[in-house]
Formats: sequence, C-alpha cells, structure tokens
Amino acid sequence: MSPALNPCNDYRSPTTLEFSLNAGTTIKQFFDALLSAYGPQGWWPGNSRTECVVGAILTQNTSWKNVEKALARMNAAGLMDWTALRDVAEPDLADRIRPAGYYNLKARRLKNFVVWLWDHYGGDLDRLETVSLVELREEMLGINGIGFETADAILLYALGKPSFVVDTYTGRVARRHGLIDEESDYEQLKALFERNLPEDVALFNEYHALLVEVGKRHCKPRAKCDGCPLAVFEHDETRR
Ligand code: SF4
Repeated sequence: MSPALNPCNDYRSPTTLEFSLNAGTTIKQFFDALLSAYGPQGWWPGNSRTECVVGAILTQNTSWKNVEKALARMNAAGLMDWTALRDVAEPDLADRIRPAGYYNLKARRLKNFVVWLWDHYGGDLDRLETVSLVELREEMLGINGIGFETADAILLYALGKPSFVVDTYTGRVARRHGLIDEESDYEQLKALFERNLPEDVALFNEYHALLVEVGKRHCKPRAKCDGCPLAVFEHDETRR
C-alpha cells in the first residue's frame, strides 16, 4: 500500500480503530522511508559494552558529543572497568564526567548501577545475558536513577536484547502521524513499535537511530516538514 499524500493542513484525526488497523503498515513504511533517506546509522557509538552502559546513563539530558568527552576522560583515568568504577570515590567520578553535565547526579546514578551490578551479578556484565529481558528490565528499573529509556538503551545496545528504545523524537513522530493517542506514555509507545515489528535487535537498533535522525533534522518542537522523508505520510505537525 502506498502512503497517503496529504498536506499538513488537510489532516483528519484518525480514530482509535484506524490507529490499530494502520499502525503496523505505517510503521514498516516509515522505516523503509527513513532508511532510504538516511542509510544505516551504525549505532551504538560505544567502543565496548561497558562504554554502552556508561554512555546510556551519561546521555540523559545532554548531547552525545558531550558524553564522548566524558567517556574519553574516564578512559584516560582507567575508569572504564567495573572494578575501577566500584572503587573510585563518587566525587572523583563526578569530576571525570563533568563534560556530560549534571555530573554529581550522573555520578550517583552510575554508582547506583555499579553497586547493583556487583551486588547481584558479581560485577560481571556477561551474567546479565542469562537473565530474561522482562526480569532484567524490571530489576534495572528498580535502580534509583535508571528510567525507561536508559534501561531499554542498556538492554538493546549493551546486551543485545530486543527492547525497543523510545525517546522524545519517537513520541513526537508517532503522535504527529496519528499512530498513537496524544496522551500515550512511554510503555504504550514502546508496545506500539514492538507489537508491529519483528523481534529483531538489529532492526530495533536501526529504527531508533533513524527516528533520532529525523527528529534532529525535522521533527523538532516546531516541525520542519519540508524535505522530511516522512512528509508524504498523513500528519499534523501542530501536535506536540
Ligand atoms: S517533521 Fe513533519 S513530516 Fe517529518 S516526522 Fe515530523 S510531523 Fe512528520
């Protein structure tokens, strides 16, 4: 089915029934359109699984560029290691991750994760692979400072488990294209994508990265639909 061509100002809000009937097809079409426009994104930008976990925690409310600076400072200090992270004093860790912003808070969150990893899994990331996705996600969400997006990014990018990552861009694109109710929350958005896509780590990885790309280039708080690869699909860019 080819996507409907509709100008932004001629939009009719779909009903809930239409959402459920059309969302699956549209979600697959979005992926094809984004991949064809932007090509493979090659995420996650981390040199090791430990860096992926640390990066997922540090990237909250900051750009990846700043996270990279913090990761470089940690590597230079020999801190990209679970034993070193356990032993380093929290203020020293905070100083090292300063470029990532909110460094005191992020040092505390990182330490919370480290304590959990040592208490439950002997500081060994490999042991997390033997735990089911559902169980592990629930455990991680119990760590103070680890929210939905961070937990899912760790599951997907560091541990290779099929957990779709939702962020601000995902919600914006889905709402503006009528794929989901405007009041939908994180879990509903995640379920929308997971229900309508094959359970495939590489696909989830690529799709999230592509949504970030279209969000950064076009689907900002004030949408720039001109030239957007998704502009041919029905949308209402005035939605938040
Ligand atoms: S910028 Fe416009 S066309 Fe592009 S994803 Fe957002 S609402 Fe859709």
